[in-house]
Amino acid sequence: MSGPAEPEAADRDVVVVGCGPAGCAAAVFAARDGLDVTVFDRGRSSLARCAHLENYPGFPAGVDVGTLSDLMREQAERAGCAVVDDLVETVERATDGGPGEPPEGDAPRFVVTPQEGDPVTARRVVAATRYDGEYLRGLDEDGAMFEARDRDGETREDFDREYADRDGKTPVEGLYVASPSDADRQAVTAAGRGARVGKRVVADARIDDGWWPAAAEGVDWVRREAEREGEWTDRERWVEWFDETHADGPVDPDSERFARVREAAVDDALSAYVDADEAAARAAAGHRALAERLDPEAVVDAHGPAALLDALDDGAVAAYAGGDGSTRREPTEARDER
Ligand SMILES: Cc1cc2nc3c(=O)[nH]c(=O)nc-3n(C[C@H](O)[C@H](O)[C@H](O)COP(=O)(O)OP(=O)(O)OC[C@H]3O[C@@H](n4cnc5c(N)ncnc54)[C@H](O)[C@@H]3O)c2cc1C
Repeated sequence: MSGPAEPEAADRDVVVVGCGPAGCAAAVFAARDGLDVTVFDRGRSSLARCAHLENYPGFPAGVDVGTLSDLMREQAERAGCAVVDDLVETVERATDGGPGEPPEGDAPRFVVTPQEGDPVTARRVVAATRYDGEYLRGLDEDGAMFEARDRDGETREDFDREYADRDGKTPVEGLYVASPSDADRQAVTAAGRGARVGKRVVADARIDDGWWPAAAEGVDWVRREAEREGEWTDRERWVEWFDETHADGPVDPDSERFARVREAAVDDALSAYVDADEAAARAAAGHRALAERLDPEAVVDAHGPAALLDALDDGAVAAYAGGDGSTRREPTEARDER
């Protein structure tokens, strides 16, 4: 005998709509804290319209938007996100016995329906599409999401850039907006906004899990082990630090909840440290990931043939000169070795 179907758990902790500067930053911050994130990315892109991006930090001669877009998608994937090349058509509440409806008393969920693939459910959704919020219409119960504007003699409705607060939170529980916002007019400010929203999502997920606001706000840092000196090499010191910081907080320091959050917070703080070997390995992986995106001719032009030949194994050079071309490696082959 089969009873009523068990409501399914949310497929994803977070769905991010858009992998431009705002969406990529939000997705990376959320995934790096262990949330299960899917990013949908297709459709009208503001970034794709820039002829060459010259004011984004870290690119001294600018960067072409195709390369930056590829790098952002790869960064999201490496952070643990699933990046899906599909266009989101609707985001709706999972209700009325439909797919993804949460058990009574559980937090609300969303159903995200893309153009081609299957719908997914998510506890949180981050909108990160500068040009379009139309797919959110089904959540606009009080008509506050869009504002009428006159343009060229016609009235049209645009997503209200002030609908969400500075951290992207909206009146719809679980819905965040990284873009459109007042930050989306430049790529770097859009990315900064996305990062703020990603951090808010992480803090809210922690609060759902029993953390209190002051404990839930964290930083996403990677720190040198060599800086962890003296008493701070001892985990007990970190436990003391947590106790001192939160002694007057809203949760009883003798409670099981306090102990559980302290354990997770101390684990989180300690996991930020990497030793010199690990930092060097990450630096090498970082160079390789960039190199994979570079035009080989530009690399030869920048370094000169002698520098590149010096970097090659002599046997590989001899084999290549011998005509079998065996020094050539596919990017995926190189990636598998990391
Ligand atoms: C002509 C022009 C030139 C510009 N030049 C510069 C410049 O030189 N420097 C600068 O800093 N800024 C420039 N900008 C602004 C810059 O492009 C934006 O500030 C920035 O791209 C905003 O980032 P975003 O992530 O908010 O949105 P977007 O860059 O628009 O990214 C949104 C992403 O979401 C995807 N998407 C859209 N709808 C959906 C959907 N329904 N489902 C799934 N995915 C979706 C898109 O494909 C896109 O990848 C320029 C803009 C334009 C129009």
